Amino acid sequence: MIPGAFDYLRPNTLEEAIRLLQEHGEEAKILAGGHSLLPVLKARLAFPGVLIDIGRIPGLSGVIEEDGALVIGGLTTHYEIESSPLVRKSSPMLAEAAGRIGDVQVRNRGTIGGSLSHADPAADYPAALIALDSEFVLTGPEGVRSMRAENFFEGTYETALGASEILTSVLVPIPGEKSGGAYIKMAQQASGFAVCGVAAIVALGDGGTVSSAGVGVTGMGPAPYRAGGAEEALTGKAPTDENLSAAAARIAEGVEPIDDLYASADFRRHLAQTIARRALAEAVRRAAP
Ligand code: FAD
Repeated sequence: MIPGAFDYLRPNTLEEAIRLLQEHGEEAKILAGGHSLLPVLKARLAFPGVLIDIGRIPGLSGVIEEDGALVIGGLTTHYEIESSPLVRKSSPMLAEAAGRIGDVQVRNRGTIGGSLSHADPAADYPAALIALDSEFVLTGPEGVRSMRAENFFEGTYETALGASEILTSVLVPIPGEKSGGAYIKMAQQASGFAVCGVAAIVALGDGGTVSSAGVGVTGMGPAPYRAGGAEEALTGKAPTDENLSAAAARIAEGVEPIDDLYASADFRRHLAQTIARRALAEAVRRAAP
């Protein structure tokens, strides 16, 4: 289908982009990789009067290490994250999640800022970034603010982003030694989106007990979430089969799973538990020295 008519603006700086967002208000939409926005426009589900293409603003793309965290620019593509030697070494679970997104074309064009701002409830990054205790940096007319990943997602396609704000970077703490992570999903066959996906990161303390656990889930409800019950069940315990299963059993605690044509709510609950068990076991295996 053909989108409705719109004006196309291409700012050269972040300041200019924010000014344009303020100027055009609700009429305006940011365009990054276009791999969620263009399908929406083509399906005529939205009719923005103005597209503000931030794709060529310098300084918004790439990955660096700073103060024990990865700093990932909002315009960094899924492929850049998947293939970055720095991400692969410092946060391999994040590279794994990026590598599971869609197909090669989607990964070459789609950006992390676009994916998080779009907030598809079945997207992959949110699970990984919640598990990794990441922070999102938002820049707008009032300046810069940051918030924890789990507080950013407010519902299906809904986020805490203000009207004239741009998600400019993501801060991902680098896990310490004796840590391991895994991202596992069951994917929809056509798009690759998660029917259910679980990201797990565990750190092992002295004696091999789990000193900390982070678990993020996508595809289950209206928004991605932290599985606090699963984390609590495993922290301080030995990573035995029994304890991993007990933690996985709490993966859907407090969540009413989606019931759609990909999976019934009951199947999703069962799936989440199975995937959580596998992700936790793999994370422990990778953490073991
Ligand atoms: P765009 O499409 O340009 O923008 C998306 C939305 O975010 C728009 O509303 C835009 O205004 C806003 N926006 C963009 N950037 C910013 C920013 N920096 N700050 C504030 N707002 C911003 N995703 C998955 O997670 N897993 C999958 O398996 C998967 N499979 C896919 C398969 C197909 C065939 C397609 C087309 C997409 C798939 N996606 C999947 C989605 C893909 O990851 C998109 O790239 C991503 O969701 C959007 O990123 P983008 O850069 O393309 O954003």
